[in-house]
Amino acid sequence: MWYNQDMQPQRIVIVGAGFVGLPTARTLAARLRHTHAVTLIDEKDVFQFSPRLIDLLARPDATHVVAPLKQIAARDGFTYVQGHTLSVDRARKIVFVQEPQEETLTPVPYDALVLASGSETNFFGVPGTDTFAFPLKSVAHVEQIHARANELIAAAIQTPESAEALLTVAVVGGGPSGLEALFAIKGYLERALAKSAPALIHAPRLHLVQAAPQILPGFPPNLVNGTMDELAHQGITAHLGDAAAKLGDGFLLTSKGTRINSHLVIWCAGILPRRIEAIPPYAVDKSGCLSVDQSLRIEPGVFAAGDCALYRERNVVIPKNAQTAMMMSATIANNIVREAQNLPLKPFRYVSRGNLLSYGTTGYLDMKFFQWKTRIAPWVRDLFYRVRFTQITGL
Ligand SMILES: Cc1cc2nc3c(=O)[nH]c(=O)nc-3n(C[C@H](O)[C@H](O)[C@H](O)COP(=O)(O)OP(=O)(O)OC[C@H]3O[C@@H](n4cnc5c(N)ncnc54)[C@H](O)[C@@H]3O)c2cc1C
Repeated sequence: MWYNQDMQPQRIVIVGAGFVGLPTARTLAARLRHTHAVTLIDEKDVFQFSPRLIDLLARPDATHVVAPLKQIAARDGFTYVQGHTLSVDRARKIVFVQEPQEETLTPVPYDALVLASGSETNFFGVPGTDTFAFPLKSVAHVEQIHARANELIAAAIQTPESAEALLTVAVVGGGPSGLEALFAIKGYLERALAKSAPALIHAPRLHLVQAAPQILPGFPPNLVNGTMDELAHQGITAHLGDAAAKLGDGFLLTSKGTRINSHLVIWCAGILPRRIEAIPPYAVDKSGCLSVDQSLRIEPGVFAAGDCALYRERNVVIPKNAQTAMMMSATIANNIVREAQNLPLKPFRYVSRGNLLSYGTTGYLDMKFFQWKTRIAPWVRDLFYRVRFTQITGL
């Protein structure tokens, strides 16, 4: 069972080297070293610790954001293929990968497959977002936001009388990433102005645009209320129950008709699964997430998890975040081993371990039953993510 008919090692192929894919590859390469060949495919050459994009947004010198996949694979004994996975041929058990600089697709056969392609920004078809919204999903996005902010700072220095208008920033999306991004860009602007134009340090005007009637849906009420207080305390205007309806050159129009004259709109409002074509297609929900059973399996030998998959527990869709993705990775790695041993698969069980939220100089430690607003929260979060980074990458 551990070898195929030709007595070749079983081939485990993992698409996506994120919070699901990288730990799965590392675990399986260690546990099945003698019997299986593990291949990890990603279009990027690095693992990206996405929560640290917030730190990078606040400070361009932030560390523990990315890690080189080639180096990790060589050290841990699995194969890394850089390329964009285009499709899965389910009957022949082959994924087709477009490698950089290759004209033809590379076929990668599998005996077991893990689909962990994550997500992309959902702009909800709002007009103008393709041209004027700045998404926040990659290091390149952070660099684009910084470049835009720097242009606006330079323009504000040239025309100080227009500084407030030029330095008006809107963040769309009042979930945890949107809120952290808001405080991070505020910190970035203030630090840059403190260096280059201290007289303008109070010029930035920040707006939060949230379609739902409250920020942080699903979070404990005292954390939501405390965050609202912090927004008010830091002079940030929150537009609640008011969706972004249109973006244009220098403005954002809300569904209630408010016009925010912003030259920098950061979009953190939602995600869509990164889809990979399968022939014949896999079952998906209405947003395109892959349907999986309780053991995170799509069909025998094929698993999916993380942002690209839909998993419900007692009919409730569980949150899509790094914490969930890592827990799912452990279940998938176990179940691939169990499947190879003809053992029954174990169900995935979601356990919320709380949240860490950084609001610049303060933040929240949310321990499920108890929330603590404290100035040490950003430090605890920083330390915790450094440890997690090392845990995932081994670096
Ligand atoms: C700014 C930001 C802040 C966040 N903050 C937090 C936080 O504080 N706490 C938290 O728990 N979560 C946070 N998250 C969410 C968390 O990062 C995601 O939920 C998590 O990364 C999902 O893991 P994943 O493995 O499903 O996807 P990812 O980690 O995104 O990995 C998917 C990988 O698949 C690759 N890929 C996609 N399509 C293809 C393809 N066709 N071919 C080859 N490779 C492909 C991508 O390049 C990527 O490397 C944040 C996200 C962002 C963007």
